Amino acid sequence: MSKIHILSSAKCPKCGGMMDISDNQEYAFQCEHCDEDFYTIEVREAILGLPLVKYPCQEVDYYIADKAEFSAIMGKYGVVGYWIENLGNGGMLGMTWPDFFPESESLQSLFEELDKLLPRRGKDKNEEEMAFEYKVRIPSLDTVIYMQDGDGSQLSEDDYNDGFNDYVDYEILSGKNAGDGGIYMYTNEGVSRWTDKIPEVISYALDIQGECPEYEIEKT
Ligand SMILES: [Zn+2]
Repeated sequence: MSKIHILSSAKCPKCGGMMDISDNQEYAFQCEHCDEDFYTIEVREAILGLPLVKYPCQEVDYYIADKAEFSAIMGKYGVVGYWIENLGNGGMLGMTWPDFFPESESLQSLFEELDKLLPRRGKDKNEEEMAFEYKVRIPSLDTVIYMQDGDGSQLSEDDYNDGFNDYVDYEILSGKNAGDGGIYMYTNEGVSRWTDKIPEVISYALDIQGECPEYEIEKT
């Protein structure tokens, strides 16, 4: 089970990979690949598009924007744009800044304050509830496909330039093409939950033209 990270658009100064917000309060970002932490100041040259952070929360709260405490936090940390997405098992609060990420200490205290209003996913939940994955069964084809919400780490700068900003990871577990797998990229604008993409992933993975066959989903 992979850990639930706070994703960012900051790129690792060493390997160029996408970084998460660091678990180490002293730093801002961490590169899982290099196993190294960085301060905000160290990533100034390495960023993909807008400074962006995706904070995974346990519940979707579309009314959060109306709460004075919430606007106060957004103002205090200079967040100019934010949105809430429903991911099926919880929510995701996206936040952007006009110029650059806040410095490390400030970025960390933003999440500390947010945690009180919109508890972070993975903090109190058990592993099963944290799961962002399903087994998708297609009875008519006697096929099962494992699918997982992409965490952003597999998209390249070219993919973003092509307009993709999200993806589903899949692996065909049984049936004709068992063992095949890959990622299905999409643009998440207007997509409220990643599971809405399941029919497209099925068609893509199994190379089905026309309508997607009936399917059932189950938690893994
Ligand atoms: Zn790295």
